[in-house]
Amino acid sequence: MEPLFEAVAVHKHFGENEVLKGIDVAVKRGDVLAIIGPSGSGKSTLCRVMVGLEAFDRGELRLHGKTLANVSEKGRVKWSEDSKKLRLDIGMVFQHFALFPNMTVFENLALAPRKVRGKSQAEAKKLATDVLSRVHLSEKRDAYPSKLSGGQQQRVAIARELAMERAILFLDEPTSALDPELVREVLVVMKELASAGMTMVVVTHEMSFAKQVASWVVFMADGEIIEQGPPDQLFGHPTQQRTKDFLATPEDLV
Ligand code: ADP
Ligand code: MG
Repeated sequence: MEPLFEAVAVHKHFGENEVLKGIDVAVKRGDVLAIIGPSGSGKSTLCRVMVGLEAFDRGELRLHGKTLANVSEKGRVKWSEDSKKLRLDIGMVFQHFALFPNMTVFENLALAPRKVRGKSQAEAKKLATDVLSRVHLSEKRDAYPSKLSGGQQQRVAIARELAMERAILFLDEPTSALDPELVREVLVVMKELASAGMTMVVVTHEMSFAKQVASWVVFMADGEIIEQGPPDQLFGHPTQQRTKDFLATPEDLV
């Protein structure tokens, strides 16, 4: 099966700091790819590059088998002609959710489908209603974000991407800003999305989530992929010493 999304030989530096040293990632439809690794290894930068928020120096991004972006001889990122439309298929959820504070949950969900996807009011309403039930927040439809817990806000942020009918969702440590008791409800929603076939790339410190839910795990350190494989193999039988060392470190020190 052809990958839905690919990053090919992606390089990126900040000044002297080479943050991504030739990263290859391929995600098939329905895959849940977990990216793990120590702080500073380039996970967030890679995510930001893959969703188009950050320029890169060398390499290529592909979606649905088509070139989305590559880099010119002069080192400038060139977006393909249809990239504007293609990029609508890519969603991202950040560690710090950013809902519009002056809009209700429902308005937060219905806005982009109408403005960006050109949905009718009735279609946007149906979408918003459907995605709210998928994140188990139907009763919060008319609440303002400030009245929600962090876990609920993050679930609305996920629902907002679902309402945009993304083909692939990138989540960068979606639970790491949450109080511990709110982490589970967000992981449960992500697990349900995975079971429903949503294609996801998740940067996470939640190793048990990665073990249970991921179809493929990538371990990064110092801007490189050190090791990757199915979760049973990567967690059960890591082959690289750096992977072993990382997995042996207690989670609260990562
Ligand atoms: P991770 O998400 O794995 O913790 P990051 O992608 O955030 O890693 O960071 C990788 C490296 O890139 C770090 O050395 C970090 O300091 C550096 N970095 C990240 N963003 C920037 C930026 N905007 N400007 C300069 N350096 C950055
Ligand atoms: Mg990060």
